[in-house]
Amino acid sequence: RAKAEGRGRAVLFEPAMEELRRSQRMLEEDLRAAVERNQLYLAYQPKYGLLADRVIGCEALLRWDHPVHGAMNPARFVPAAEEAGFAPLLTRNVLDMVCAQIRAWMAEGMEIRVAVNISATLFATNQAVQLVREALAGSGVPPNLLQVELTEQVFIGNPAAAGEALRALHDLGVTTALDDFGTGYSSLGYLQHLSFDVLKVDRTFVQSLNRADGNNSSWIIETIVRLAHGLGAEVVAEGVETPEQLSLLRDLGCDAAQGFLLGRPMTAAAVAAAFRAPPGDPAALPIVDAAAR
Ligand code: C2E
Ligand code: MG
Ligand code: MG
Ligand code: MG
Repeated sequence: RAKAEGRGRAVLFEPAMEELRRSQRMLEEDLRAAVERNQLYLAYQPKYGLLADRVIGCEALLRWDHPVHGAMNPARFVPAAEEAGFAPLLTRNVLDMVCAQIRAWMAEGMEIRVAVNISATLFATNQAVQLVREALAGSGVPPNLLQVELTEQVFIGNPAAAGEALRALHDLGVTTALDDFGTGYSSLGYLQHLSFDVLKVDRTFVQSLNRADGNNSSWIIETIVRLAHGLGAEVVAEGVETPEQLSLLRDLGCDAAQGFLLGRPMTAAAVAAAFRAPPGDPAALPIVDAAAR
């Protein structure tokens, strides 16, 4: 009887599993083709310096113009790509696009620092550093114009390897930013031994800032700012959507801000225009939602 039941289950589950494997395989094939056909592209979101009161750089965010599903955000395909072992290929592709863009801006007389997200999985081995080193050597981009964003996730698998990778990146002259800070579940202990140039306050703290419900987010942000500055790092606030949030973040001592208020992920041309805009009124920045290339 148990056997019959077991079989019944297998029959029930198999089509779903099969479907999952099939869509995973299709995604892998699509992704491989997308890389070859240049269907992957980058959107750039400005980083706004609160002291200089102007755009000081940007973050590259991956997009996929899928032939059937349309523009896809990374949350939908980056994890699948990693599962399929595509993380190195994808990262190489992103780094090459970023370096080419930095060169293009330099040719127009602009030095715009670009931050690149690199998956935690590539920090368990030497791959992240290797890929960055190759991209820099291949493009001749000054290392200080490249920043690597990584999450606390890197300290969960192989913290020693991650620490080594961080030091190697700094030796190359590349700066580092700890992304989504405050949402990971690793201890603060690693900050004793490892240095980051930037801590990025996760947008969950920023977005509950101006709620008048007595939440603790302003204390948390203030504490992150003190912690970061004590460690010699700067603080970038993510997900700033309202002028009230921006003004509170200024008061709390954040160094820079990023978010829809200051610019959605946009084209390279739009980010260059925002970079060239005179200091002063962030509301006057060209806000371009550039889903299109
Ligand atoms: P992230 O690095 O924390 O990037 C910030 C995400 O928040 C982006 O989503 C951005 O569009 C979104 N965002 C920015 N400002 C606001 C705001 O004011 N409000 C709200 N609600 N959202 C805002 P996106 O582009 O969908 O990227 C999601 C995540 O995918 C990124 O989080 C990053 O972890 C990952 N990712 C993006 N590009 C790459 C890449 O080239 N390689 C890898 N490995 N991961 C990437
Ligand atoms: Mg990021
Ligand atoms: Mg983030
Ligand atoms: Mg995030």
